[in-house]
Amino acid sequence: MIPNWLLKRSSLTPNRTALSFEDRQWTFLQLKEEAVLIARKLRMNGLVEGDRIALLGPSTPDMVFVIHGCLLAGLEIVMLNSRLSAKEILWQLDDSNAFRLIVEDELFHQIGIKDVPMITFSSLQSSEQRDLSVSEMWDASRTITIMYTSGTTGFPKGVRQTAGNHTSSALSSVLNLGLTDDDRWLCTMPLFHISGFSILVRSVIYGMEVRLYNKFDTESVVDELRKGSVTRMSVVGTSLQRILDEFEKTGNVAHPNFRTMLAGGGPVPDNYLRRAEDCKLPVLQTYGMTETSSQTATLSAEDALRKSGSAGKPLFFNQIKIRDTEKAGEFGEVLIAGPHVTPGYIGHAAERDPLEDGWLPTGDIGYFDQEGYLFIVDRRSDLIISGGENIYPAEVENVLLSHPNVTEAGVCGKAHPEWGSVPVAFIVVSGEVTEEDLEVHCQQLLARYKVPKAFYFVDQLPRNASNKLLRRELKEWAALK
Ligand code: ATP
Ligand code: MG
Repeated sequence: MIPNWLLKRSSLTPNRTALSFEDRQWTFLQLKEEAVLIARKLRMNGLVEGDRIALLGPSTPDMVFVIHGCLLAGLEIVMLNSRLSAKEILWQLDDSNAFRLIVEDELFHQIGIKDVPMITFSSLQSSEQRDLSVSEMWDASRTITIMYTSGTTGFPKGVRQTAGNHTSSALSSVLNLGLTDDDRWLCTMPLFHISGFSILVRSVIYGMEVRLYNKFDTESVVDELRKGSVTRMSVVGTSLQRILDEFEKTGNVAHPNFRTMLAGGGPVPDNYLRRAEDCKLPVLQTYGMTETSSQTATLSAEDALRKSGSAGKPLFFNQIKIRDTEKAGEFGEVLIAGPHVTPGYIGHAAERDPLEDGWLPTGDIGYFDQEGYLFIVDRRSDLIISGGENIYPAEVENVLLSHPNVTEAGVCGKAHPEWGSVPVAFIVVSGEVTEEDLEVHCQQLLARYKVPKAFYFVDQLPRNASNKLLRRELKEWAALK
């Protein structure tokens, strides 16, 4: 059994700040009161313990109250990505079999969803209340959230994340990063994604403040980091890049109060890590996925510089192995086990057991170095085999991104009569650069067979609603060239 996070936390440290947004703040007690109110209104709307609802909202305090309200009311929450189209949302509503959609009014109008049973935030707020008895303890296997994977390799899969999954994930994280009384986690990651949601979970389990932003705004973020008004933050590669550009432009550095920045969700280019060092930003690469309720391995602060590029070691409760090998340096599929691993998918993927002999096959290729540090190489499905040699697109993209005038790079294979497949690159540039410049740049840093055979300049790369590069679409672009 696991204690009801918010009830327990608000009884332990009721007066500590739980949440801040712009110039407003809420203590854990106030957060609980807001959440109880929502839970009572949800009951009035006919939602009972065990019901599955879908939630669509921005990263605002109201959204946080609704999330905790749903948890107090015993509901399972399907977290919907607000960047999805109406069609994609309808597909996920159907696939998840959610009983109702709870949606913030503005998003509802923006996306234009029709003909689904729903409750808007405003109608929930103006609703009457019904009595509610809240369980003090939760079964560890209780489903807290269902999140759809990003759909980078195929159709998104609805992943069940239990109370046990989220709790062990938060505990593993704190055993790595540590915790101090003045910790404040800056949350600019979307709450519907595990990277943002897991910050809310850590907050109620640790008694730590979340400094919430609805959107990633480079100037405000850099201001917080420079002033030292936050101590932790989670980022993906693109947000890290914007932070670094801004720091470099203004010549500022991060305040010593700022402790660690977790960077994950996809490969983090090596040169970002080096640039971060100059900005006094301790960036720790982390590796995880929807199926593991956030981090599985993360670098520790003391290894940040020495092991730059590695995703660290498996966290306290977690295990990682490489398929069919125990040898250092040997590449293979990353397999994961631990209490943070999902018990299963729902909807169209429900029949699919996420585990193979107790291990979650990730579809990612990685290796351990001599000291047992994990390096993630790329996704298995994106591997390019050229004349019998393996080429990992992420390595080539990394090299392209180290060119000062390249802002985005996407590499994929293109069919070739002699080699089977050859790498080609799609590039977004910020300044003057020619195909020859890029070729010379790559030749200096890569084996000849890895150098792209063509460079295509484009305005933007194909990305999904999680902003991840869709290499399968790039392959279609390449085939048409
Ligand atoms: P789908 O499963 O639908 O194809 P997805 O795998 O992109 O989508 P997520 O669960 O959001 O959906 O992302 C997890 C994936 O992100 C990992 O499997 C891995 O490929 C990638 N990833 C996460 N962290 C890192 C990292 N530090 N380095 C490289 N890749 C990473
Ligand atoms: Mg995946």
